[in-house]
Amino acid sequence: MFRKEKFKGAKACVLGLGKSGRAAAALLAAHGFEVLISEESPRAHAVSLPAGVEAETGGHSARVFDCEFWIKSPGIFPHHPLLLEAKKRKIPVFSELETALAFIPKGVRVFAVTGTNGKTTTTALLGAVLTEHAARENKGRRVHICGNIGSPVSLCADQVKKGDDLVIEVSSYQLEDSTYFRPHYACILNVTPDHLDHHGGMKGYVKAKAKVFRNQRENDVLVVNGADTVCAQLVKKAKSDVLAFSTQPKHLLKTDVFFDGDELIFSEGHQIRPPHLKGIHNVENAMAAALMALAAGVSADTIQAVFDRFEAMEHRIEQFAYHHGVTYVNDSKATNLDSTITALKSFEKNHNIWLILGGRDKGASYEVLIPYLKDYCKCVLTIGEAMDKIEKELHGALPLTRCQTLEKAVQTAMEGARSGDIVLLSPACSSFDQFKDFEHRGKVFKQLVNARIFKDRMEG
Ligand code: ADP
Repeated sequence: MFRKEKFKGAKACVLGLGKSGRAAAALLAAHGFEVLISEESPRAHAVSLPAGVEAETGGHSARVFDCEFWIKSPGIFPHHPLLLEAKKRKIPVFSELETALAFIPKGVRVFAVTGTNGKTTTTALLGAVLTEHAARENKGRRVHICGNIGSPVSLCADQVKKGDDLVIEVSSYQLEDSTYFRPHYACILNVTPDHLDHHGGMKGYVKAKAKVFRNQRENDVLVVNGADTVCAQLVKKAKSDVLAFSTQPKHLLKTDVFFDGDELIFSEGHQIRPPHLKGIHNVENAMAAALMALAAGVSADTIQAVFDRFEAMEHRIEQFAYHHGVTYVNDSKATNLDSTITALKSFEKNHNIWLILGGRDKGASYEVLIPYLKDYCKCVLTIGEAMDKIEKELHGALPLTRCQTLEKAVQTAMEGARSGDIVLLSPACSSFDQFKDFEHRGKVFKQLVNARIFKDRMEG
């Protein structure tokens, strides 16, 4: 475990000059540590550094071995040769998450949300509910919402006071690198294949997800998807109180809430209407957030007030334009196959979707998409590095147009779509081959569509 007292005055090395690496470096520097950030890529030069932090880019020099402990940025592969060398030299390596938590006072309730899909939505819902609860309580409790949803835990660690709530969206990368993490309230929304390249297969991915509850104790709470086969297996090892949700008629665990088509009905008798968000998957996200909140002493009234005003989040099945009868939907956050399937399932089976698919491949097979593409889509437009693999694996399941760029895909879809059609960006791949991140990809998509609509209106 990272103990700040044990390493007091020590020299720290942060591997990776990304958002969480810079945040961890800033936190350590603010607490008097000497910090070196070491970054493999030469590109990161322009980034501004926190005060008191030194950086080397374009490779790791021998200076990293002068440091007494390392913080690993989540994106770095677990089998990176440098990490194997650290192991040999017995240099302790910590995750950004666990390092940040070492600076948080006792008496803080920690909520952690993980899962393959739905993490950000559920974290946002839970964070909003707990914030409303704290406001109604009026006892000075503050709610800090951090992790993958926005700012790294390291950035907010110094603002957290005893009695506050910390709501963290945790990725499998952060969990993989953690050993002692123990949230009082944890949630696994679902586990389907994703990041297989990073974790070396499904086994490694599931193992990482399980770390969200591995250190939980009796009286801690674990909320899981009762219809998810991986969750059902994993909870057998839980020491905490397990609460399950499901919207499916068949589930593997006894559930504590069901959906009657209108309201969520909880085993303790509460009835709560879910937020006005598209898709049954969002009912599941609402169930998970509500179960965690109820377990933490929030009233059904408070949850309802927040659910009633909760708005759809950008880049998540976001309907942003309607022109000549065609609906345009940005689901750039769909970076794996399951989230693309979820997006398709949130529409009617009308064979009217122009689906933009592709980007950087993550190792799973696109064949699982075939039945859904046949039910929902008119045409698939492929972009990015994954084009060849997608074409090969979908082998003539339905019309497929190679577009290479998002710009070409938008042009093709907008020229071909007829009234009643839907143009959907739900790429099932990560964005890093052509974009900075999924937000950048989503914004470019919306801009391309809106610019063409504007031109059309001006001309028409
Ligand atoms: P994450 O943070 O885990 O990537 P988000 O809440 O940002 O999840 O949602 C991203 C996309 O994942 C959504 O646009 C939707 O397609 C899909 N999704 C969201 N919630 C779920 C869920 N509970 N089950 C399956 N897919 C989901």
